[in-house]
Amino acid sequence: MNIDSIQNGVVIDHITAGRGMRLYELLDLGSLDASVAIIKNVVSRKMGKKDIIKIDAAIPLNLDVIGYVDPGATVNLIRDGKLVEKRSIPMPERLIGVIRCKNPRCITSTEQELEQVFKLTDREKKIYRCVYCETKA
Ligand code: ZN
Repeated sequence: MNIDSIQNGVVIDHITAGRGMRLYELLDLGSLDASVAIIKNVVSRKMGKKDIIKIDAAIPLNLDVIGYVDPGATVNLIRDGKLVEKRSIPMPERLIGVIRCKNPRCITSTEQELEQVFKLTDREKKIYRCVYCETKA
């Protein structure tokens, strides 16, 4: 893939340098059949350094994951080689089925079919807590 020109796909830009891999993992991009490029430590006038992820496929992404990992990131949708939509992703109020509760006594450890739900409890400090046991994510 020519990483500069995507015909139909998604470019996640303005990722805080170093968070690209974490996004890659939580978005489960490794399981995609499409070409995916992570470009690390790109020099940016605004940010100093940033990471960029390019996905050469028009797939739906879990935007909550992006807002959770890196609320400053922008998502650019490319269609027929043109930028058709650019949006920044706010921190989601709730994070469902993305991360697991670390508390071994949490009800989600024993009741495996329960959905993992975390709630944003402090927007400034970016703290998410398990809705069942209030353990910090
Ligand atoms: Zn919990």
